[in-house]
Amino acid sequence: MRQVYMDYSATTPVKKEVLDAMMPYFTEHFGNPSSLYTYGLEAKDAITKARGQLAHLIGANPDEVYFTGSGSEADNWTLFGVTDKLAKKGNHIITTQIEHHAILHSCEFLQKHGVDVTYVGVNPDGTVKLDEIEKAITDKTVLISVMLINNEVGTIQPVKEIAEIAHKHGVLFHTDAVQGLGNTPINVHEMGIDLMSMSAHKIYGPKGVGALYMRKGVNASNYLHGGAQESGHRASTENLAGIVGFGKAAEMAEANLENHIKNCSALRNYLIEQVTKTIPGTTVNGTMEHRHPGNANITFEYIEGESILLMLDSVGISVSTGSACSSKSLKPSHVLTAMGVPVEKIHGTIRFTVGDFTTKEDIDYVVENLAKIVARLREISSVNEKKGW
Ligand SMILES: *Cc1c(COP(=O)(O)O)cnc(C)c1O
Repeated sequence: MRQVYMDYSATTPVKKEVLDAMMPYFTEHFGNPSSLYTYGLEAKDAITKARGQLAHLIGANPDEVYFTGSGSEADNWTLFGVTDKLAKKGNHIITTQIEHHAILHSCEFLQKHGVDVTYVGVNPDGTVKLDEIEKAITDKTVLISVMLINNEVGTIQPVKEIAEIAHKHGVLFHTDAVQGLGNTPINVHEMGIDLMSMSAHKIYGPKGVGALYMRKGVNASNYLHGGAQESGHRASTENLAGIVGFGKAAEMAEANLENHIKNCSALRNYLIEQVTKTIPGTTVNGTMEHRHPGNANITFEYIEGESILLMLDSVGISVSTGSACSSKSLKPSHVLTAMGVPVEKIHGTIRFTVGDFTTKEDIDYVVENLAKIVARLREISSVNEKKGW
């Protein structure tokens, strides 16, 4: 059976070149980067090279990039580290209702420990309400955190404008760029970003390695305590092979950025066009104007998304409902809820995300099967008669 992976926002396969770059660092060059003999120095050099590759992709200085264990860790580090560092100035942070759970659940934890959090809403097209961000700022605000690209509906947020608002009021700006990295051009200095979270496994690198960009001078408190790795900012013996893989993936993402955006958005637009043309009762969620090149988030009226997901899986197609993190619970997606999508429509929503290995034939296979599956599911539901589908 044909296998069609269409969930690149959940994770991506490791590219062959990335794996090839990593392999020697498990075996021959296995040294501890903190050791002072040759094995250690080789390992340290490999990390320096990877740091340069990632820094280059985002327009940062290499000494502003700190490797972490994941994108989630970079988000946690930012929130805990900035609120601790600036506790004397204030205890208020501003974020949005559509952030990844790594931000939202960290904020909930901080609220139990005396931090005030404002969750700004979004417009029906998924873009954040800029004026509400500015209105929410008080003299106690220490951080504004708004994601660069939303993982469910793919909306690209105007982070440069948000950073300007933050800086006008002397507030630090963080962006979760886990979905943005490799999918839209990023220059942290030009965009005024003070802290930024990244993850390797969303850009064809390995799982379990991420990074935090922290502008020189920001100095958020440490989150992991122990040894003096990452210039004393993040303890733990480095994930050497993982970091080498992240560096290689970043280098490839930079070389491939324009092509990647062009190819993915063409395939994604073809998918949306075919689905909305051949299947009645479908709507695309989120703006088409500033959008993740691979993201198609589509509601199929009067059907359960989980039923579609399982039936697609039975013909070898992988997609997700709402977001991967909430696909195990029946709680409606917090992102679509914030956009004002009614609950029954949220339950019929599927996220398709295409990537570098997706082909036009894959899309045709998905559309063909999707049309059959949707027709079948509507046949066995009572709304079919009413709607005449
Ligand atoms: C995947 C993702 C994360 C989490 O990154 P991990 O490396 O899997 O912990 C955080 N934010 C966004 C927007 C994501 O898509």
